[in-house]
Amino acid sequence: MHETNHLCGLLARHAVLTPDHVFARRPDLPDITYRALFEGAERMARALADLGLQPGDRVAVQVDKSIEAIQLYIGTVLAGGIFLPLNTAYTDPEVAYFLGDATPRVVVCDPARQSGIAALTPASCLTLAADGTGTLTEALPADPGFEAVPRAETDLAAILYTSGTTGRSKGAMLSHGNLASNAETLREYWRFTRDDVLIHALPIFHTHGLFVATNVALLAGASTVFLPRFDPDAILDAMPGATAMMGVPTFYTRLLNDDRLAPELAANMRLFISGSAPMLVDTHEKWLARTGHRVLERYGMTETNMSTSNPYEGERRMGTVGFPLPGVELRIMQDGAEVPEGDIGVIEVRGPNVFQGYWQMPEKTAEELKADGWFITGDLATRDAEGYVTIVGRAKDLIISGGFNVYPKEIEEIVDDLPGVVESAVIGLPHPDFGEAVVAVVVGDVTAEEIGEALSGRLAKFKQPKRVFVVPELPRNTMGKVQKKALRDEYAGLFA
Ligand code: ATP
Ligand code: MG
Repeated sequence: MHETNHLCGLLARHAVLTPDHVFARRPDLPDITYRALFEGAERMARALADLGLQPGDRVAVQVDKSIEAIQLYIGTVLAGGIFLPLNTAYTDPEVAYFLGDATPRVVVCDPARQSGIAALTPASCLTLAADGTGTLTEALPADPGFEAVPRAETDLAAILYTSGTTGRSKGAMLSHGNLASNAETLREYWRFTRDDVLIHALPIFHTHGLFVATNVALLAGASTVFLPRFDPDAILDAMPGATAMMGVPTFYTRLLNDDRLAPELAANMRLFISGSAPMLVDTHEKWLARTGHRVLERYGMTETNMSTSNPYEGERRMGTVGFPLPGVELRIMQDGAEVPEGDIGVIEVRGPNVFQGYWQMPEKTAEELKADGWFITGDLATRDAEGYVTIVGRAKDLIISGGFNVYPKEIEEIVDDLPGVVESAVIGLPHPDFGEAVVAVVVGDVTAEEIGEALSGRLAKFKQPKRVFVVPELPRNTMGKVQKKALRDEYAGLFA
């Protein structure tokens, strides 16, 4: 295959075309131009090469979000390395697993973590703090010049571990071609240009913040309001001067709690995007009422980048994730065949966005990524007459009670509509008679009895929760995903 470093060419495009344009606006810190961003990235590439990084070597990075962390990402790819970001919430024993699995040549971590992490790995261990200081920055050469190391389209640019919602995180191997093609598609589909100012408040250890928000902004030559973390005040301060935002549903629900949110504040905005977890129709409706904008919901995963999106123009259908993106094939399967319209099945995806397999897991890869290119996502969905896809849940969360299939989302939607209920999670627990029994875990000003009564006439008996728990909050990870596995573990012995 022809060797280029196509991804780097795309990422560097605007350092050549519009070097003085601002990439990052940062509250209380100087702006960063495209020129400055890339000069820093080239220095990172040089420093990595000086450490002996060879093409295909992994650079594991567990640092707070900063411009230097973005430069480290681009620098790794320029140097022919494989960028491997780790969630900052992972503890040393968790990091030990990932480092053992990924065997990186270089590890970059927060200075406060260095002594713990350096002991876990034979790799060179450098530091990078949230303010950009650390032994990595100290090692940067003065000269920014660096020639991108040639890489083929199928060579890996990143290994990104999945969120671990359904089990142990798996390292998804993403190639230069995967990342370049998906970012180009999204940039075009969502009409990002140099005139955009994207509110960038997502973490960069996840596909959403790194390969969607960062790559799309870079490929468009757009500016970002670069926020180190989700901060409702900072987002609302930025909104009048911004044009677009990418967020997870919890961003939107938390912003809705703020009295400042109003149509005037969002008058300059053209696009609000949500994904990574399902957004309730109720949240969609409230957002529309409060801002005058319909959120565009899309669907993707670590293994496939983005697979579907609601249309930019045309109807954004609430509760759905829209259509397959250009170039992406999607089918909904059960028992080896596509299901009829409206029926539930498992989503399979094929296209240039689909990853190269799971790192060091050939059997798991063979199970889920078929030789003909179809990837079995494990997500359940339906498709309506117009082709809109609706995610129904995860196959692993499907409850089979007394031989009947119970889809948690159907029950959650009904529970969420009851007076006093804020949100709910419905899970299946082992039961001696039914195999699994339905249990609802509910947040709100409501009692278990009230919920039981309200559901008794509305749901078939096998769908009715055998037990209801009212709790102060649902367990979520940093991307706002409800951790049903944690709930199942917590209540595991309930019917034993
Ligand atoms: P693991 O694979 O380790 O169990 P994970 O699947 O949560 O973790 P990610 O790759 O971060 O890891 O998340 C992808 C999943 O998020 C999808 O498979 C899907 O279940 C869910 N998801 C993403 N976007 C949406 C959406 N718009 N609506 C509903 N679910 C979504
Ligand atoms: Mg997954």
